[in-house]
Amino acid sequence: MADFDTTAFITEAVHSGEEVAELSSESGDVVSPIHLATHHAMRSPGVAEHDYKYSRFGNPTRDALETRLARLIGANEAIAFSSGTAAIATACLALCDSGDHVVAFDGVYGGTRVLFDDLLREQMGVDIEYVDATNTDAIEAAIRPETSLLWLETPTNPLLKLCDLHGAAEIARENGVKLGVDNTFATPYFQRPLEIGADVVVHSTTKYLNGHSDSTGGVVATDDSDIAERVSELQQYTLGNLLPPFDAYLVLRGVKTLPLRMTQHETNAQAIADYLVDHSAVSEVNYPGLESHPQHALARRQMDGFGGIVSFELDATEAETRAVIEELDLFTTAVSLGGVESLVDHPWTMSASFMPAADRREAGISESLVRMPVGIESSTDLIRDIEQALNYL
Ligand code: PLP
Repeated sequence: MADFDTTAFITEAVHSGEEVAELSSESGDVVSPIHLATHHAMRSPGVAEHDYKYSRFGNPTRDALETRLARLIGANEAIAFSSGTAAIATACLALCDSGDHVVAFDGVYGGTRVLFDDLLREQMGVDIEYVDATNTDAIEAAIRPETSLLWLETPTNPLLKLCDLHGAAEIARENGVKLGVDNTFATPYFQRPLEIGADVVVHSTTKYLNGHSDSTGGVVATDDSDIAERVSELQQYTLGNLLPPFDAYLVLRGVKTLPLRMTQHETNAQAIADYLVDHSAVSEVNYPGLESHPQHALARRQMDGFGGIVSFELDATEAETRAVIEELDLFTTAVSLGGVESLVDHPWTMSASFMPAADRREAGISESLVRMPVGIESSTDLIRDIEQALNYL
């Protein structure tokens, strides 16, 4: 995307929300302290020099993080949650009511699908319609007069499929439908859906924004003050699902290196994808940075980088696929993604195992699919490790 100011992003990732003037003048701290207090003293009833009363309504460490995330995501407001799931649930509660119709990408993260089916459909009576949103015409065909929300995720987990955000935003705008985008895989360094026309963006900060596999969190970001107010009210008065101060500090620290980490994640992922594409034991590689990816041109248009996750199909049985995974030394077998260390996931038995087998198959997840959230180690070492593991076959 042409007008993205990388320089400003890199600098703001380090400073915004933590400018020296905003930090304690008494101690001269150069990083934001972790404010653990649950309540704050007033000079006299209802009168205080600060804006804080009770931590559910506001906390200085969380505020610092929200200021930084709003700047990086390119939003007027960002609200930090106790998980990505809490962020998605609260955004959806703010954006739809019983009897509404919601169009959602059939490729969304499986946990989001559970949330939509259980909370929105079963509990609230929202009519959810899943569509193949890689095809913009399918989105348009699904919109009805009572559609209130279009929910997308791009690229997707684990097959790295893309939606055309410009096309989707146009359809949403023309039909008076709100557009929500889960931008967890791309991160704001590589993709900014609000600039393209989304109304709401969510991230699981558990992944790249924190980046060090030691904090669970999420964020809702928007330019729309009515949506922000509704999301905050739900968080503060109804659900209480806010990000605790220690986690806010960890994300505030982790996100400082987001540009550096994403650059290295991408360099490594591209090198691994290029290696796998030529390997005789690999029948298919999913990575938007490959020219063979069916949406490579779209990725070039709408993203500033292709991300750090590669998935691929082995020409192997389930047992052989599991054996190859076990042969890997540098890639830890674990779910999740976005940390500095490389992981390997067997979606069939791990991250997608909660879906019925028929649904997994229909979603394109097979027994021989492997997903690699590539870390920031040396790509030479990572490829050497993959090479020795594939020798098993
Ligand atoms: N969105 C995406 C794309 C994810 O991959 C995940 C988790 O894997 C989530 C949302 C949920 O985030 P959390 O685990 O922080 O609740």
